[in-house]
Amino acid sequence: MNQLAIGEATVDRVEDMPGPSFRLTTMFPDFDPAVFERHRDWLVPNYVNVEKMALVMSLHSWVIRVGGLTVLVDTCIGNDKDRLPAEPWHQRQGPYLERLAAAGVRPEQVDLVMCTHLHPDHVGWNTQMADGRWLPTFPNAKYLFSRTEYEHFQAKAEDMDRQCFEDSVLPIVEHEQAEMTEGAHAIDPGMLIEPAPGHTPGHITLKLESGGDAAIFTGDILHHPLQVYRPDWNSRFCALPDEARRTRRAVLEHCVERGALLMPAHFGAPHCCHVHREGESFGLAWHHG
Ligand SMILES: [Zn+2]
Repeated sequence: MNQLAIGEATVDRVEDMPGPSFRLTTMFPDFDPAVFERHRDWLVPNYVNVEKMALVMSLHSWVIRVGGLTVLVDTCIGNDKDRLPAEPWHQRQGPYLERLAAAGVRPEQVDLVMCTHLHPDHVGWNTQMADGRWLPTFPNAKYLFSRTEYEHFQAKAEDMDRQCFEDSVLPIVEHEQAEMTEGAHAIDPGMLIEPAPGHTPGHITLKLESGGDAAIFTGDILHHPLQVYRPDWNSRFCALPDEARRTRRAVLEHCVERGALLMPAHFGAPHCCHVHREGESFGLAWHHG
């Protein structure tokens, strides 16, 4: 899907690029081939490249428009950024802003940018290069970061995460467009940010409620739909393993209890789903908009 309605809200998906296509065994240290075989029929080809036994994923933003507000959730990779050793992300030139425009959104129309966490594939378009420096891409937006997350990445040494912090997060703070959230934070009566630690220490989610419908924007709490069936599978990038499992289960429980659509950052087409209980675990039904 590229657009769907949640009550009065419209939600658009704006893709920056496909990937990354890690092998299943690399991405999930607990990967069990029997689980893949059980789900093979629907996993291939939208979610698993069976020749390489690799993940099929997408890097996208969600744009929520409701009650006169335009909210951008996660900002993908960005252009012109030094991201070695991640070759496909390095000095990228992609048509993301054109795709945003095709969804009817010019940068100056974005009121709020919400980064679920501060990994390089969630903050890239926060800034763009102009006159040799990094400037906020969305000049009128307030950018919401979790303070815990900010402080965690601020303390990082010289690696890609640090570089990313300096070119995609710090300029927002320097331009006084950042707002740090601590604990739960209501944007308005229908949009609530909540801590969801595990994948990173300060990961946050956004719950949307409108006209009796609900959705939850979950960043990287789940990278791949198989984790709905196996919420105990962490990705190799989950910083706090026990909390990541606890948070994943809590998010899935919320989807079941509230009937909320699950809106992750990297699932393949159609990119979002409903969740139901299956015994001690969960199952999904794709939402085609
Ligand atoms: Zn990610």
